[in-house]
Amino acid sequence: MITRSLTHSRSNSMAAFGTQFTAKMVTSRFRDGQWSDLEVVPVEPFSMHPATHVLHYASECFEGLKAYRTESGDIHLFRPDRHVERMLNSASQLLLPVPDRAALTRALHMAVAAVAEEIPAYPGALYLRPTLLGTEEDIGAAARPTQKALFYVLTSPVGDYFSGGLQPLRVKVDDKAQRCTPSFGAVKTGGNYAAAMRQIVQAKQELGTDQVLFAPGGVIQETGAANFILIDDKELLTKPLDGSILPGVTRDSILALAADAGLTVRETDFTVAELLQRAPGAEAALTGTAAVLTPVGELVYEGETIRVGDGQMGPWSAQLREQLCAIQSGASEDPHGWRVTL
Ligand code: PMP
Repeated sequence: MITRSLTHSRSNSMAAFGTQFTAKMVTSRFRDGQWSDLEVVPVEPFSMHPATHVLHYASECFEGLKAYRTESGDIHLFRPDRHVERMLNSASQLLLPVPDRAALTRALHMAVAAVAEEIPAYPGALYLRPTLLGTEEDIGAAARPTQKALFYVLTSPVGDYFSGGLQPLRVKVDDKAQRCTPSFGAVKTGGNYAAAMRQIVQAKQELGTDQVLFAPGGVIQETGAANFILIDDKELLTKPLDGSILPGVTRDSILALAADAGLTVRETDFTVAELLQRAPGAEAALTGTAAVLTPVGELVYEGETIRVGDGQMGPWSAQLREQLCAIQSGASEDPHGWRVTL
């Protein structure tokens, strides 16, 4: 049984994913209807009034993307446009003021340029965490959107996530629990992660699983931190973007590579029953910025373990993963124009 979390680095040489940061970040503040100029500032604790909006009403959203240093020394961001779009959408759903598309994009470039010499060589990367917080001091503001906001881009050098080898995951299939409020699934906001955490931690303790695949009402959605794909009979199945799941940038990239490779890509709802029935002859995987593409070796449903294929990474998963990694590392051409060089 494999027990590890997608949120922890497996590298021995570097600190756990998400715990080590560079010393500089890019920031901007919104007040009196205006965003201040983007600035590079030291990363240090900031103080907040105890009545700050985000602390009470969770008025916050964030993104997660990576910058890579290729063998030739170039630095590129992977599909920053998609992350900027998703952040604009999250902010809009939360009624948060947000810098415009151009400023968000510039902030990402500035954040990477400020710490360029600290970006580890591939398979390491620089993880970027753009974050937007509602900072109005007003606890009567539950029904009033914040008029003040803080935006920053924190960066974190990350090692090879898979330095210990790529081990298939054990995933609980839960047809009762919801990851988040259904209409909020496409919003990348802390509240969604708070809502899902207990399910994931409890499943890990009770079943030794790495993640939970949420399937409320028996329809497959996604896991707590990654999208889910099933590959069977030259067909790739994944849930359509109907607002209930996060529109993963890795998901989109894998679907494009799968179509290029001749798989039939079906963005369609499918059920737990269909998944369990197909699993023994299929491949399943999670996709995400941290996970890239990580195979699922076992599903656990109502206490019973169902093996996916032979329990190891299948050939399609291996091929798609390798192709995406080659684009991200700079080892291959970039036919879709996903690398944005600094
Ligand atoms: N779903 C959820 C809930 C996530 O947290 C993530 C990670 N951002 C993903 C899917 C994958 O998204 P992406 O490929 O853009 O990292």
